[in-house]
Amino acid sequence: MVDRNPTAFLKQEYDELVSKSLDWRPRTLMSSSKPWSKVDSKKVLMLCSNNYLGLSDNPELKQAAIKAVRKFGAGSGSVRAIAGTMQLHLELEETIARFKKTEAALYYQTGFAANAGLIPQLVGEGDLVISDALNHGSIIDGVRLSKAERGIYKHADTADLARVLEEAEKKTPAPRRIMIITDGVFSMDGDIAPLPGIVAEAEKHGAMVYVDDAHGDGVLGDHGRGITDHFHLHGKVQVDMGTFSKGFGVVGGSIAGSTDLRNFALNKSRTWLLSGSAPPAVAAACIASLNLLERDDSLVKKLWENTKFFKEGLKKLGFDIGNSETPITPVMVGESEKAVALSQALFKKKVFALPIVFPMVAKDRARIRTMVTAAHSTEELEFGFKAFEECGKKLKIIS
Ligand SMILES: *Cc1c(COP(=O)(O)O)cnc(C)c1O
Repeated sequence: MVDRNPTAFLKQEYDELVSKSLDWRPRTLMSSSKPWSKVDSKKVLMLCSNNYLGLSDNPELKQAAIKAVRKFGAGSGSVRAIAGTMQLHLELEETIARFKKTEAALYYQTGFAANAGLIPQLVGEGDLVISDALNHGSIIDGVRLSKAERGIYKHADTADLARVLEEAEKKTPAPRRIMIITDGVFSMDGDIAPLPGIVAEAEKHGAMVYVDDAHGDGVLGDHGRGITDHFHLHGKVQVDMGTFSKGFGVVGGSIAGSTDLRNFALNKSRTWLLSGSAPPAVAAACIASLNLLERDDSLVKKLWENTKFFKEGLKKLGFDIGNSETPITPVMVGESEKAVALSQALFKKKVFALPIVFPMVAKDRARIRTMVTAAHSTEELEFGFKAFEECGKKLKIIS
């Protein structure tokens, strides 16, 4: 018999990760997520949360969550399909559809659950799914669960997408259904998908368009309605998928589109059918988040003011900040070790920003990824500049 040990591999594999510096050692957040957060017992300037609008600590959202707990309890008691569909979930879905200007919407426990549950149902055997080369891991996993053929086009390159589509048409038999899937905002570089060009190519071939707007929700478009609104493509994107865990400040995934999409998705997505529904507090806070944004776009405007101010400041200091068009600002460093050293030096100076290193990005493209929020004040961002300047000079990233 093969000599098996049911547990020895755990330590071996972990030790291997440690030896390659590929293990995660997450820092501990000891306060709510806000500009000055307590992290590992230290008060630091938060520059790496996805809490773009500061909504995770917003009194209106917190109050809505508390009220929902009092009235409806701590948990939902079931999966949505059996006894866990509460009125709050339905109200949330109506609110999402109104906010996104679509016919209908469906709410999932997370964005990851939406991608993993829905993508493999939309395309299967005999179909083709075409992905941007830099799509998020949850899309990649959703695609892996599908029996469809896979195509990849060069990052944000619609000419290359056209090539993949034309090659697919030459095959016999040609694919039954085709779906093009892309991140709306790419999380490592902060660039925006060329959605108008993608829609135009899709229309030539009768292909579906699925956009994952996790970093566009609350950020792009009028009142933070997202990438579809940003490009005025209402009605042209079949699946507008998003998350409540970033700009909207809570947690949960959503898809917005036609009533047919909603009906299909809720009957087919295994992650939706077979996993408990969001607790009342979560659903209520999500509703409050969208209601606040519909009423008032001042946080979205402030986010963009801060974004512009922060990018200009880093550029003036001499940093290479890539080609980001959004509040995600990478500070390019080069080698992985140097990015790690910069992040550690920044933390000593009370600035919390994480390094993104190989294999998440190419070996010579390691960076510190910063994200400002609407909640940061000018003084706080200036505190950030000072730390970046001192650490950048010490590590010879700027002169
Ligand atoms: C964060 C993220 C997700 C996952 O969303 P959750 O709701 O946090 O599970 C999916 N897609 C993209 C592009 C993301 O950035």
